[in-house]
Amino acid sequence: MRIDIITVLPDLLRSPFSDSIIKRARDRGVVEINIINLRDYSTDRHRSVDDYPFGGGAGMVLMIEPVYNCITHLTSQRHYDEIIYTSPDGIPFSQSLANELSMKENIIILAGHYKGVDQRIRDRLITREISIGDYVLTGGELPAAVITDAIVRLLPGSISDAESALSDSFQDDLLAPPVYTRPADFRGWKVPDILLGGNTGEIEKWRFEESVRITREKRPGLLDDES
Ligand code: SAM
Repeated sequence: MRIDIITVLPDLLRSPFSDSIIKRARDRGVVEINIINLRDYSTDRHRSVDDYPFGGGAGMVLMIEPVYNCITHLTSQRHYDEIIYTSPDGIPFSQSLANELSMKENIIILAGHYKGVDQRIRDRLITREISIGDYVLTGGELPAAVITDAIVRLLPGSISDAESALSDSFQDDLLAPPVYTRPADFRGWKVPDILLGGNTGEIEKWRFEESVRITREKRPGLLDDES
């Protein structure tokens, strides 16, 4: 899979993809992540990419031309399944959307900045607008990193234990059961006996029951969604 992220702050995006599972996935060729500096597509000598909003008002707007030049340059080289714009008014990001996007071959993520991008880009080039929550961040770099991380860890070859990503919260509309590791007894704080008995059938049953209990306790709405 290939993920191209267009940003005005490329340095902000280097670190999230340079450690742990995402780095390994890149090194193994499971995913190619390219961070593209929007300023490289500016046509002006100051490499500016923003301008004042028509009609006045506070804040700057990402100009249409550099974004257009960048996206059309990329799309002239290969087909993209999705051109995503990160935006607080987009559809809420979720595990099921991460699952869906992880099946794609090539995607672009445009990280907005300032007051956002010229609406004509959204109307004509963007295929999906995604929000990572009902709050406003300074830019789309962290949302792009969140979306990319959630996708990449699902790709075959990213996580050594293939089962692991599938047993995480939300994969089956249930939150994950509790996990424990050694020591089995820390100052009298004990691990549930069932996990120490070695009966895998019983352990699976316990985990499922714990998942249901925790989901009912913390996110009952997830259970209500079942129909
Ligand atoms: N004026 C915009 C509004 O009120 O919706 C907010 C602009 S925000 C300061 C700058 C950029 O950060 C946005 O264009 C978007 O790309 C990104 N951004 C901020 N919050 C976000 C969120 N919750 N989800 C996704 N992207 C977000």
